[in-house]
Amino acid sequence: MPHNVVIIGSGPAGYTAALYAGRAGLEPLVLAGPEPGGQLMITTDVENYPGFPAGVMGPDMMDLFKEQAVRFGAQVLHETVTKVDLSTRPFKIWTGDTLHEGSTAIIATGASAKWIGIESEKTFGGFGVSACATCDGFFFRGKEVIVVGGGDTAMEEANYLTRHCSKVYVVHRRDTLRASKIMQERALQNPKIEFIWNAAVADIMGETEPHRKVTSVRLQSTDKDLSWTMPIDGVFVAIGHQPNSSLFTGALDADELGYLKVEPFSTKTKVAGVFACGDVTDRTYRQAVTAAGSGCMAAIDAERFLEAEGH
Ligand code: NAP
Repeated sequence: MPHNVVIIGSGPAGYTAALYAGRAGLEPLVLAGPEPGGQLMITTDVENYPGFPAGVMGPDMMDLFKEQAVRFGAQVLHETVTKVDLSTRPFKIWTGDTLHEGSTAIIATGASAKWIGIESEKTFGGFGVSACATCDGFFFRGKEVIVVGGGDTAMEEANYLTRHCSKVYVVHRRDTLRASKIMQERALQNPKIEFIWNAAVADIMGETEPHRKVTSVRLQSTDKDLSWTMPIDGVFVAIGHQPNSSLFTGALDADELGYLKVEPFSTKTKVAGVFACGDVTDRTYRQAVTAAGSGCMAAIDAERFLEAEGH
């Protein structure tokens, strides 16, 4: 017997879809994926999720999401989907050699921040290195930080960070920005933002005792044989996000950046019975609360779809 609903992904969107599908009596299966809990697992305090006035640690919040979904009958497997066949129903979803079948499927595979790819970025991840100014900017009140990148995200993050930080340096590997004109102008005119052109972050240095924190970066010129150390309190990596949609290439429509396409005000994809929600569909907001909201929509869409079939 196929599952009524197979949910791929276990961030706020996946677990909210599981909670709603569970409460609708659909006994959903959640395939948690390679980063169970999603991007919030690499965030420290979450202070902008409604209902937690004192804030909550990202991993603790995701434990609560999971607990609530399981309470209503969701089955969670810590397995990663390796292949899907959405061409016929029931939909076929493999985790390695194991086949899971679903009458409907909800895709909540999220997006992953792109990282520079240096070891020290991992050492200080969540302790001075972040990929989310909205999540972590507050912790750098009165401090000096670097934003890496030259696109709209970097400009947006830099502008946002000037609300908290005394100084924001944008480190960009070229001498022209990729960002849209309006976003560029806003950043270039902001007195708290200084640009460091033709430079890349080669290393991030800091302390591990008594608290892990960033104290400086080593910058490498991209057009000269030159590197230097710069004292800094935090590093925000803003070099883009990658929607985790490659499993569905060919089966579902995606935009030019890989975000899955859904019908407006709905989570319906072009395949009847397959719904998509959360960051894998969202190039604009990418917040836990918006992901959770669209997870709820996906579960309701799946429930109505099954109901229309006489489930
Ligand atoms: P993006 O446009 O792809 O820009 C990424 C930036 O990071 C580029 O400047 C790139 O440098 C740099 N970069 C990439 N890999 C790097 C690396 N390994 N080391 C150092 N730098 C690296 O990504 P995005 O800024 O996230 O924007 C994505 C999309 O969302 C865009 O379409 C954007 O317009 C949209 N967006 C819109 C808004 C808004 O309108 N409010 C806000 C955010 C995002 P190069 O320039 O040298 O390639």
